[in-house]
Amino acid sequence: MLLLWIILILTPLIACSAIPWGGNRLPILMYHKVRPAPADDLNVPLDVFEHQMDALARRGYESISFAGLRAWHRGEGSLPRRPVLLTFDDAYADYETHAAEAMRARGFDGTVFLPVGCIGGENTWDGGGEPLMNWEDVRNATKNGTEFALHSFNHDNYHDLSLEEMRVDLARCMAELDARGIDYQRTLAYPYGGFPRTEPMRSEMKKLFRELGIDFAVRIGSRIERTRPRDLHEMRRVNVQGNDRGIRFLVKLLRGRTRL
Ligand SMILES: [Zn+2]
Repeated sequence: MLLLWIILILTPLIACSAIPWGGNRLPILMYHKVRPAPADDLNVPLDVFEHQMDALARRGYESISFAGLRAWHRGEGSLPRRPVLLTFDDAYADYETHAAEAMRARGFDGTVFLPVGCIGGENTWDGGGEPLMNWEDVRNATKNGTEFALHSFNHDNYHDLSLEEMRVDLARCMAELDARGIDYQRTLAYPYGGFPRTEPMRSEMKKLFRELGIDFAVRIGSRIERTRPRDLHEMRRVNVQGNDRGIRFLVKLLRGRTRL
């Protein structure tokens, strides 16, 4: 508890001063829904989200894309001094209306992870009832600057799939997107943050990813990633929630989590 309070006191000092946060930091923020509705496990209320985006803008953060990060890894282009990746899982239908608009008003863009087989439908893996983007929405959002990437075909948990099932799943996603002429990144967000944790399965999976050109995969890690991640297929994201207002959000930006 004491440590938490020390952090709470120090964070605004660090955030507001000229003290650098340390080089090579790359916060990857994970969102699902952003809408003017009460906070729940998956929703960050729009006004809270707007405050979070203001906080990023005030501190000089600039959003980047996975395409930009890949290019930089290959020695092309540059990264801003304070890069941030703003990511959205599941492609909820109102992404453009709320999240994208709030980001663009501040010069930011996001990456949306598509459960490809569910596009145009609902969040069936979660009981349904929540409309997802359709293909027209995806095309329009692409034109407006949103980056799209992979979130499996049917929102299956990669922890429970065999290697062959993973291969089929990814091939199906890419074939569908290619056939529809959708511009996307070969970056995967593991549904539920799940993937095999034991060897040799974990290494075999990453070998498969390399074969298929899946150059990045993001998990939930509650840590701040580096611009050159230790493991490109286990990039850690920060789960941003609806109660991450003010100092809680700054603590998350600094540490990736608020718990000790
Ligand atoms: Zn998901």
